[in-house]
Amino acid sequence: MRAAVLHNARDLRIEEVPDPAPGPGEVLLRPRFTGLCGSDLHFWEGGLREVLADPVILGHEFSAEIVEVGTGVADAAIRPGALVAVEPMWTCGQCAPCVRGTYNFCRNMTWHGLSPKGGGMSGLTVVRADMVHVLPESLTAVQGALVEPVSVAHHCVTRAQVPAGGTALVLGAGPIGIATYLDLRARGVERVIVSEPSADRRAALAKLADMTGGGADLILDPGAVDVVAAVRELTGGEGVDASVDAAGAEPAFHAGIAATRPGGRMVTVAVYMKPVTFHPMAAFLGGVDIVASCAYCNDFPAVIDGMVNGSYPLDGWVRPIPLEEVAAGFTALEAGTELKLLVDVQGS
Ligand SMILES: [Zn+2]
Ligand SMILES: [Zn+2]
Repeated sequence: MRAAVLHNARDLRIEEVPDPAPGPGEVLLRPRFTGLCGSDLHFWEGGLREVLADPVILGHEFSAEIVEVGTGVADAAIRPGALVAVEPMWTCGQCAPCVRGTYNFCRNMTWHGLSPKGGGMSGLTVVRADMVHVLPESLTAVQGALVEPVSVAHHCVTRAQVPAGGTALVLGAGPIGIATYLDLRARGVERVIVSEPSADRRAALAKLADMTGGGADLILDPGAVDVVAAVRELTGGEGVDASVDAAGAEPAFHAGIAATRPGGRMVTVAVYMKPVTFHPMAAFLGGVDIVASCAYCNDFPAVIDGMVNGSYPLDGWVRPIPLEEVAAGFTALEAGTELKLLVDVQGS
């Protein structure tokens, strides 16, 4: 089978690798669509090397069709031909975080798509049967590939604890920022203000704001306005109930704290490659709780339901590409000229 294998920084090869076979409790999958994600981009650029020692098949955001079910899988819905979204965490179920139910912090975690376990950018791949979520018939394989990144957003919105009818600020309108926006709107958050420097991304978001009744006037260009002052003005001088930092840039981190009302929350969901200089007095005097949101934990079912209900329109921010164009796709993501690229794994 063919697979996109990352050998080194900027050295991604489409090559033949051996077909995997499912063991007991596992399923053999044929990946359909696989997202290129910001963390894949960091690996491609050569960052986070400590996590990646050997060449790996990339792809942790993917939908797939079940090809074969290994022995000992009791769930009748898990059968050949079923379309699934994959929750790409090989967790142990035994360590303290797993036992506590916070399996996203499993001490023995292996990520599918960032490890020798294989990944979604390949003709076939094997995961444990409890890592797949069978999709309802009304969902497409493209939507299935988006369940993983939207779950990241869904988890961080839960962490943000914004009341319905409340206000929020999203910093950064990349794919996670956009999904966070849609999730906040779906949960009835009345005013969702977004700060995003790229005009293209603001335009993409404006269309989604139209579709969800969110109001394009709440989309700010941090290059043109003082975001904190603008947020205060839009919230009667109070600040938002919660901010989400989906940007991963120091100015966004500070703006998120400063724009949040006393007693509110600032959630950081971005993957930071560098530390920020943070004065604890900003949170102390502002009365803001700073929390982090890492990946997802039991979020897939709610996101799949939300997709069925139309909460996460994909118009204008998701584009499929062939497997041969993965490296070019990373270059485009690096240049900031694309939002969410999905590899059409079987399409070429
Ligand atoms: Zn990802
Ligand atoms: Zn564990």
